[in-house]
Amino acid sequence: MKANKIQIKEIERALHDGEFCFYYQPKVSFLNGRIVGGEALLRWVKPDGAVIPPGAFLPQCEKSGFITDITAVMLSELIEDIGAIRKVKTDIQVAFNVSSLDLHSPYLVKMLRSFIGSRRIDPGNIQIEITETAIVDSSERIQKSLLDLVALGVEVVMDDYGTGYSSLDVLSRLPFSAIKLDQGVVGRMSSDARNTHIVQSILYMARELSLKTVAEGVENECVYTFLMASGCNEVQGYWVSRPIPLKDFIEMLKANPRWPSSSFGLLYNAWVNHNSYRRKVLDAVYTLTKVAPEGWKDLPKMDLAHSPARCRLGQWYKKKGRRNDDASTSSHPTNPQDPHDRMHAAGEALERAVRGQAGPKSVRAALKTFLDFSDIVDAEVSRIVEEGLSETLGESYSDSSK
Ligand code: C2E
Ligand code: CA
Ligand code: CA
Repeated sequence: MKANKIQIKEIERALHDGEFCFYYQPKVSFLNGRIVGGEALLRWVKPDGAVIPPGAFLPQCEKSGFITDITAVMLSELIEDIGAIRKVKTDIQVAFNVSSLDLHSPYLVKMLRSFIGSRRIDPGNIQIEITETAIVDSSERIQKSLLDLVALGVEVVMDDYGTGYSSLDVLSRLPFSAIKLDQGVVGRMSSDARNTHIVQSILYMARELSLKTVAEGVENECVYTFLMASGCNEVQGYWVSRPIPLKDFIEMLKANPRWPSSSFGLLYNAWVNHNSYRRKVLDAVYTLTKVAPEGWKDLPKMDLAHSPARCRLGQWYKKKGRRNDDASTSSHPTNPQDPHDRMHAAGEALERAVRGQAGPKSVRAALKTFLDFSDIVDAEVSRIVEEGLSETLGESYSDSSK
């Protein structure tokens, strides 16, 4: 107990003497292999040069409540750092870790609002990371803080996702824009297939909920490549880079290094999303035909997303042929675009026929049209996946260094 008290005093002194700073760990996009962000990680650099990691002093600060003082002081540091980083790269997302205590009162939101209002940073430059454990019994106050952050234009990321506390309920109720796969789960994929299933299920679920995915704790090329192929969006870990001091991070941004990247994961995501659409339509048709119309009011809410623009495969077709990952503006109709759009139109017509009780003959015809287009699209996508794989194989085997 006594040791803790002394330590808090020592921590307080160090904070006010400016011995705390951030190291930055780069975050890389799997799609283009470039740094798209960095996580700010607290370090206590003693006057003798010794660097103390946060695990050695943050737990007692959380317990005593002193953590909010650290957050307040270090948020100002962070804004300074972002200013320096923006001189090299303006479109960067810097992630800042906060504790649940920081969200229990409005001070964090107020500080950020004032930094954004004075145009010292752009809200797109900052992400707030919070662990699920911290908000599992999320009070209204925490919910309000999270909603206020989102209203400011700041992204909120759920950290350490996949640990024992993970709950889908929290994810669906709170306004997260991304989830960060826990490094323990990521690391254990190498020794336990169940962890691999968990990671892939999380990636699947995140896609369904339109959440971005970031993998943490990636320590080797195998795990990096596996996550890239599985359609994870971004990656952080020792294999990319350890957390480094600000000036080294800025040097790294200047050098603009590139890690392996592939659009294969994107296509894979699109394919899974497309299959999930087909499945949802068929599940809905099955349920609607089994249950009498009087009972439909009790049906679970279903979002069938008939618009082809909302389907990742539709988005992928548009992106095809483009180098970066900005999909929204391009319109590149390719051959398969047509059957894909028609498949979605057929899905909508099928649902309409069932709901409108069009009679067995019409429903059967609508079902056949839907399945026929769906088969055409599926065959086309298999072909594209195959092409992509043979291209990759060609590259790997022609590269003499491998
Ligand atoms: P976190 O937010 O989960 O941060 C990731 C931790 O994993 C960091 O440890 C990072 O150095 C480490 N890491 C990154 N890649 C790898 C890898 O490939 N392998 C392994 N084994 N580790 C990796 P760090 O910097 O010691 O931070 C520990 C925790 O302290 C953080 O976990 C976060 O919860 C907390 N923390 C750090 N900075 C702050 C801060 O400014 N405020 C608050 N409230 N918490 C902070
Ligand atoms: Ca974090
Ligand atoms: Ca984490």
